[in-house]
Amino acid sequence: MQLVIRGATVVNADHSARADITVSQGRIHAVGPDLDIPSGARVVDAGGLLALPGGIDPHTHLDMPVAGTRTVDNFEQGGRAALAGGTTTIIDFAIPGQGQSLLQAFDACMDRARTATCDYSFHVAVTWFNASVAREMGVLARERGVNSFKHYMAYKGTIMLDPEQMPHSFARARELGCLCTVHAENAEIIPFLQQRLLAQGVTHPRGHPLTHPQSGEADATWRAITVAEATGAPLYVVHISCAQALEAVIAAQARGLPVFGECLGGHLVVDAAVYEQKDAQSAARFVMSPPFRPGQDREALWSGLEHGAIQVTASDNCAFTDAQRQAGLRDFSRLPSGTPGLEDRMRVVWDGGVAQGRLTPEQFVAVTSTNAARLFNIYPRKGCIRPDADADIVLWDPNAEHTVSAATHHHATDFSVFEGMTFRGSPVATFLAGKEVFRNGRVTAEPGIGQYIPRPAFDPELTMLRKLVSSQAPCRAT
Ligand SMILES: [Zn+2]
Repeated sequence: MQLVIRGATVVNADHSARADITVSQGRIHAVGPDLDIPSGARVVDAGGLLALPGGIDPHTHLDMPVAGTRTVDNFEQGGRAALAGGTTTIIDFAIPGQGQSLLQAFDACMDRARTATCDYSFHVAVTWFNASVAREMGVLARERGVNSFKHYMAYKGTIMLDPEQMPHSFARARELGCLCTVHAENAEIIPFLQQRLLAQGVTHPRGHPLTHPQSGEADATWRAITVAEATGAPLYVVHISCAQALEAVIAAQARGLPVFGECLGGHLVVDAAVYEQKDAQSAARFVMSPPFRPGQDREALWSGLEHGAIQVTASDNCAFTDAQRQAGLRDFSRLPSGTPGLEDRMRVVWDGGVAQGRLTPEQFVAVTSTNAARLFNIYPRKGCIRPDADADIVLWDPNAEHTVSAATHHHATDFSVFEGMTFRGSPVATFLAGKEVFRNGRVTAEPGIGQYIPRPAFDPELTMLRKLVSSQAPCRAT
């Protein structure tokens, strides 16, 4: 089947131009003005809308087992939410338990993703380390298309990697040409503060942000950078939520280290005041780690996006229901940590970024798609609109206003952290591999249409990553 999108303003990370796009066999065939229309092709008139590369959200937790329950957005429904917001590819996580085979955890995720409605890939977490883990990291990198390994510096006793093992894992990842990613929080401070607050009688979720201070996030970020520098490993810091942690990343980048940053849509617009709601059930819905922060931290994140210190936006979509939070209502430290956000990430970034004049449309494409494609080595298959790329295309109306409501979103949960917020800039239609899968509020993707996207390891010199560092502000349009 052939498709022609006519009369769009095609926005890539480096350039925008009025053009037609032809698609054949799921890939972009040509991009240019006044292209010939092949006979029998379906013609979509873009009517002057923007055509953007499909969004890439490299941080989701769909259908994830956690503490005897699982996240409620699965790969079918979570994928629908993604498509409805203009995201066509996600990178989720395989997280083995202590002593569990990494390959087994990865295979279980592949199994759960068979009904995916958007394209997907997996980071694999290193939660323990020995010779067999090192061997499995090699199999994942060479045979399964995994080029990024996640390290939890918090959650001691469950998924946190022993700090003594972190350099070993980083060195192994470097040897394989893979990227190290970290959840950076100080592991000792959190339980200490939790116990102290609970002893003082604080059980309400307002205790949650008090036990995840900015200083703890900054401390762990500095330590991860130290380990990365000592081992030569490239580092990607997930969900930077505050100015203090961002300062560490900026300092590392200033020294030329291949250190990259991600921030979340939620952290860009949701204020820490949400934890002060009197009703514990309402406040509990916003519990995630790191927590939502005050205004000066949000300002720092926007500035980081604008100046290129933060390359990527993600959602950390990790959705639970009120029922799953019941046990934690009398003890905030027992609340499951995570919120939805996959559907609205791109709207949040357009509204606060482009509509507010902080980002150009090209920078928006960089931080919602292109930079993630480059950092996780799937560029130029993903992250751009040019010949031979996958035909993942979003028709975007920069002026459309959308008010978020759990009553109309595509997530499996009855709650949104953006409830009632109105964002300017919204997708009109989404194409996945050339198939229209979303239009005007309706998702039509069939379960299983999403493809697994293998991500090859980087070359030994890490050429692509070093280029991103040396370009200073990779998300800046020239
Ligand atoms: Zn996460």
